[in-house]
Amino acid sequence: MHDVIIIGAGPAGLSAAFWCDELGLDTLVLEQAGEIGGQLHRVYNPINNYLGLKARNGRELLEHFSTGVDEAGFDLWTGAEIESIDVRAKRISLRSGERLQSIAIVLASGVRPRTLDIPGEREFAGKGMIESATRDRDLFAGEDVCVVGGGDAAVENALLLADVCPTVTVVHRGKKLRARREFVERLQPNHAVTVFTESVLTRIIGDERVEAVEIMRRDGLKPFQLAVRGVLIRIGVEPNTELVRDQLGVDQQGYITVTAQQETNVPMVFAAGDVSNPAAPTIAGATGAGATAAKVIAARLNAQRIHG
Ligand SMILES: Cc1cc2nc3c(=O)[nH]c(=O)nc-3n(C[C@H](O)[C@H](O)[C@H](O)COP(=O)(O)OP(=O)(O)OC[C@H]3O[C@@H](n4cnc5c(N)ncnc54)[C@H](O)[C@@H]3O)c2cc1C
Repeated sequence: MHDVIIIGAGPAGLSAAFWCDELGLDTLVLEQAGEIGGQLHRVYNPINNYLGLKARNGRELLEHFSTGVDEAGFDLWTGAEIESIDVRAKRISLRSGERLQSIAIVLASGVRPRTLDIPGEREFAGKGMIESATRDRDLFAGEDVCVVGGGDAAVENALLLADVCPTVTVVHRGKKLRARREFVERLQPNHAVTVFTESVLTRIIGDERVEAVEIMRRDGLKPFQLAVRGVLIRIGVEPNTELVRDQLGVDQQGYITVTAQQETNVPMVFAAGDVSNPAAPTIAGATGAGATAAKVIAARLNAQRIHG
């Protein structure tokens, strides 16, 4: 029996874990990946917006965040595959057979990039699929590329690629790009960039690596193929809530709804970080929410232990 089980070791889960430890709670962190850090591994741009710390990228910030993990009093299991969570009973079963029990749970499982689920998307991972323009643009310099999406991330990546690629084709299913005006204004005079709105990518084609994409206009015309060597998909994120979605209050997209104390609609089940913050996901927000959850749990447990 643990006081607290924290699910996810990104900024929110790590912050909750350090706080729980400091507040004297018996804490176990379950992280499904082989290493801690969550989305910080995918941040290739400098981070200048976390108070008091500047980092060249997410990994550098993670070095700061993981200081003291080894000496901390909480247990941390990486590679932990959760089979099921019974939120009311606070019981967690792992694929490896362990059955775990706690008094409180903190869900800090974050978000993952949305995928198109089209042929070629998985097959060409590492063979023409671009993970990030900041990281990969030198690899794709001189190549024709395609960017899928119409939000800030898609357009910002398209602009970065347009500095080094002869053509950048942006494919967006909506009528208008959703990105902030400043990005869209920089896109328009850029001769390298062509934007197809009301269009979807239906296939990524190639032999050993990406050679072309198939684009379908939503006006019902026949799909056409476009020769490209790289494809970058930025169509948003979705919350990692499959294990609890039907047991907890969630919004239409599956994000967990919480009180100002980070508590869900089930007592002593908390959620922190991006998994419960679709409006303003940030590292600072995640670490703050993790701290809030830990402090509220400690106060509740102390009150219970004193009064009965
Ligand atoms: C390219 C990029 C750039 C960004 N730039 C900035 C920036 O400049 N400033 C800023 O403030 N924010 C930035 N962000 C956002 C920031 O990274 C997130 O807000 C932050 O990482 C959220 O932390 P989190 O702990 O809530 O979730 P995550 O970082 O998503 O971590 C969740 C963790 O939970 C684990 N997990 C998921 N499901 C399970 C499960 N079933 N069992 C066990 N573990 C599970 C995941 O493996 C992961 O380790 C950026 C994000 C990206 C992708």
